[in-house]
Amino acid sequence: MSQKTILIVEDEAAIRDMLKFTLTASGFWVEEADNAEQGMRLALEKNPDLILLDWMLPGISGVSMAQKMRQNEKTQALPIIMLTARGEEEAQVQGFEAGVDDYVVKPFSPRALVARVNALLRRQHGTQGASDGQQLIAGRMCLDLESHRFYVDGEELKLGPTEFKLVQFFISHPNRVFSRAQLLDQVWGLNVVVEERTVDVHIRRLRKLLEPIQIDHYIQTIRGAGYRFSVED
Ligand code: CA
Repeated sequence: MSQKTILIVEDEAAIRDMLKFTLTASGFWVEEADNAEQGMRLALEKNPDLILLDWMLPGISGVSMAQKMRQNEKTQALPIIMLTARGEEEAQVQGFEAGVDDYVVKPFSPRALVARVNALLRRQHGTQGASDGQQLIAGRMCLDLESHRFYVDGEELKLGPTEFKLVQFFISHPNRVFSRAQLLDQVWGLNVVVEERTVDVHIRRLRKLLEPIQIDHYIQTIRGAGYRFSVED
């Protein structure tokens, strides 16, 4: 497997150094930025596999940078882990709404951080076992597992890594109701400590993408139970 590049965007040099040391020791190549402008530039130039993004940055905040990245076609699907301080729960929710995939609360142990990085990279490349040319088709949707692309009526639609995994799970398990906890286990993976409302945030993002092409009804909310995917009317 080729070496993965992690971009760290963090203004505190001590945390940046610790992250760089830990990630380098785990076999990653590391790029660093101490502000969002530089971070955005490196994200475009260095084509990283994942970004560790601090929430509190001088100038443009981590959340604004995440939003900008989600609006840029080149960085739209880049996995982002946000670094937040304790007590910034509101930041975490805003972060998820801005398109962040996971977050880690400071102070964190280097090992836990590397585990989260690996989990997110696995989630993004969770389709490695798929045979060549394997496609999942449901209704007007087509998920190409080899090229990691998502199509509706043959037109490509860009999905973030978590939304891609969600669609993959739903298409593979149609017409069944899954609770938020089950979706967290199945899509986010065990040992990932995220709140159940995270599921709602990603479902909302996914529906927003599907709404203009009128297939948001494929993802149904079952009150008091969870969510169901069905292409039947
Ligand atoms: Ca900071």
